[in-house]
Amino acid sequence: SGKWGRVSAILKAFEEDCATPISKLRQVADAMAVEMHAGLASDGGSKLKMLISYVDNLPSGDEKGLFYALDLGGTNFRVMRVLLGGKQDRVAKQEFEEVSIPPHLMTGGSDELFNFIAEALAKFVATESEDFHLPEGRQRELGFTFSFPVRQTSLSSGSLIKWTKGFSIDEAVGEDVVGALKKAMERVGLDMRVAALVNDTVGTLAGGRYYNPDVAAAVILGTGTNAAYVERATAIPKWHGPLPKSGEMVINMEWGNFRSSHLPLTEFDHTLDFESLNPGEQILEKIISGMYLGEILRRVLLKMAEEAAFFGDTVPSKLRIPFIIRTPHMSAMHNDTSPDLKIVGSKIKDILEVPTTSLKMRKVVISLCDIIATRGARLSAAGIYGILKKLGRDTTSKDKEEEVQKSVIAMDGGLFEHYKQFSECMESSLKELLGDEASGTIEVIHSNDGSGIGAALLAASHSLYL
Ligand code: ADP
Ligand code: MG
Repeated sequence: SGKWGRVSAILKAFEEDCATPISKLRQVADAMAVEMHAGLASDGGSKLKMLISYVDNLPSGDEKGLFYALDLGGTNFRVMRVLLGGKQDRVAKQEFEEVSIPPHLMTGGSDELFNFIAEALAKFVATESEDFHLPEGRQRELGFTFSFPVRQTSLSSGSLIKWTKGFSIDEAVGEDVVGALKKAMERVGLDMRVAALVNDTVGTLAGGRYYNPDVAAAVILGTGTNAAYVERATAIPKWHGPLPKSGEMVINMEWGNFRSSHLPLTEFDHTLDFESLNPGEQILEKIISGMYLGEILRRVLLKMAEEAAFFGDTVPSKLRIPFIIRTPHMSAMHNDTSPDLKIVGSKIKDILEVPTTSLKMRKVVISLCDIIATRGARLSAAGIYGILKKLGRDTTSKDKEEEVQKSVIAMDGGLFEHYKQFSECMESSLKELLGDEASGTIEVIHSNDGSGIGAALLAASHSLYL
């Protein structure tokens, strides 16, 4: 067979390997619910860590005053301050600054990373204006969003279990994250109380709840992926502490580490995982999240280049560079509606230095984007459906007298926010799983910036000065 025969054979095999028929999604959702139970039963009982967040009270809306937040968890790092004005004014004022993390700090030493963070925070605090008004004699308080798996020992302390998403600082593993931050703050002479250490999913849940009491779960689709939800405290066998007054506890699932024989994994996923910083871990994350989707595309294109002369007689050398195709490039190509797919053409030219591509080639690229994004989006939907099943919220109550329980899922993250085909496919797949009737009780919302505001809100609801 000629070039196009081989190209279409690779394409077809890839499509088959990535297939997510509804029956498969149901298996994934069921496996998710089973693993949730197992992870709640005992530490180490499941690939799902089901981490206890110590958040047993979500913000009520009454929170008032000035609070700071730090958000560390991916490519960018943010510092922010908010002025909370209670139920009337809510977030009356907010300011933030975003700094990208120099890559060498992601794999260097612990002190270097935390110094960088504390310095950025100190600089930001120095720009605080009169409007934010801190009452006399009061220490500034901070909510720290740290989006990596942490074994918490209280709301404001916990040790790092492992790094994910391209971070790898061995000496920090097992370290008290808040302790490391406090030491760095002391080094730069910054006086601030760390009131809460939260995962971004927990922050997003808190931020969502602040505006909408029906928010039951939060999902992040960004550089990585994760979910948190509100569990009944009595449904957490591994929790031996006192039962919270609210009867509830927020659980950080760390669902990025989910894996199951039902997941559709391809040869490309296996090699991506094998060559990653964390082989064997974060398998769901590696097929769903923004850090990896573009890289999967690169790997399939590389095979097409090597085995089917997709780009002609030579393999473009740029195509051999891991992570050279980023997910935002992929979504820009996927979103190309021009008849000659000129955005695809220009991206391939810019990234891979391939000067010309035929329309037929560009169409293959679109097909690959579609296969990869669809699989990720549908598996995200299956994960959410699994949570709803665990909570018994996947069907409407059979008792007609009972008031229909609404459930809102608060979503955030750059992938969800900016990759239209991905988020649309996720939402329609969730509807498909739920069916018409139950779909009416479930709402997916974009909880903008929940991870930052949410941490500030949790700092506020756990302030020393209440
Ligand atoms: P993080 O997850 O690092 O805390 P974000 O939630 O802002 O930060 O997500 C950033 C990630 O979102 C990027 O790493 C990228 O994978 C993805 N992303 C950003 N913009 C786009 C886009 N236009 N299309 C697809 N994915 C995007
Ligand atoms: Mg984030």
